[in-house]
Amino acid sequence: LLDVKELSVNFSTKEGVHHVLKNVDLNINKGEIVGLIGESGSGKSTLAMTVLDINSRNREMSGNISFMEERIDNLKKERMRNIRGKHIGSVPQSSMNALDPLVKIRSQFFETIKAHTDMSRQEMLSLTARSLEMVGIDPLRMNSCPYEFSGGQRQRIMIALSMLLSPELIIADEPTTALDATVQLKITTLLKDVVQQKNTSMLVISHDLHTISRICDRIYIMYAGRIVETGTRDEILNDPVHPYTQKLLASRL
Ligand code: ATP
Ligand code: MG
Repeated sequence: LLDVKELSVNFSTKEGVHHVLKNVDLNINKGEIVGLIGESGSGKSTLAMTVLDINSRNREMSGNISFMEERIDNLKKERMRNIRGKHIGSVPQSSMNALDPLVKIRSQFFETIKAHTDMSRQEMLSLTARSLEMVGIDPLRMNSCPYEFSGGQRQRIMIALSMLLSPELIIADEPTTALDATVQLKITTLLKDVVQQKNTSMLVISHDLHTISRICDRIYIMYAGRIVETGTRDEILNDPVHPYTQKLLASRL
């Protein structure tokens, strides 16, 4: 479904060129939940944003990225926007950035639907209601604004929005990081449930191997811009090869 090959990414800054991703290979098959784990600054969000083609101002890349058998690393902005809304959903690192705090949930959902389909108002209403219901938010609250919800609820709403048009792939960047431990577990489980219900694939990014590994079929471990280890969940948890993975596992509380 998604195939990232020999991806290297540099940022040019005033201080010089900053090499962030180094020869990254990563692939996701249809129906899989794949984890990308690494410490802060290792390049996880850079990978997500390069795939999604967002925030590309001072970014330079080499390598290639294919999605549904099509090269997407060199597409026109317009075409990429279409893929992003309809075929690849994303839950960005901070959901406060993605949802406008002062605009009604309903309007924000309608905007996404209108950009990619020609549904009637009635259809948009029922799709919005169903999506909110799926993540445990009362559809009657679609007329409220994001600031009226808790962080965990906003994260649920963001998940509903990312799934709205039943994309083939979801990229969730640290979907639970800002939440307390019990809510983390709930949101992680919710992600897995909705992804399976909708038959979507998911790349889920985290610095927390223990929380995220529960829901992953396969895991990639990233360290300083490189993939240092990859395997099924059981291989990574029971038989880690790279010292960094071993360190991550040993840090279990
Ligand atoms: P975290 O877990 O904290 O979210 P991360 O693994 O997602 O970390 P990235 O956000 O990918 O890390 O950042 C990786 C490195 O790339 C960091 O050193 C960061 O400073 C650098 N970086 C990211 N974006 C840019 C940019 N636009 N210009 C220059 N450097 C950047
Ligand atoms: Mg990040």
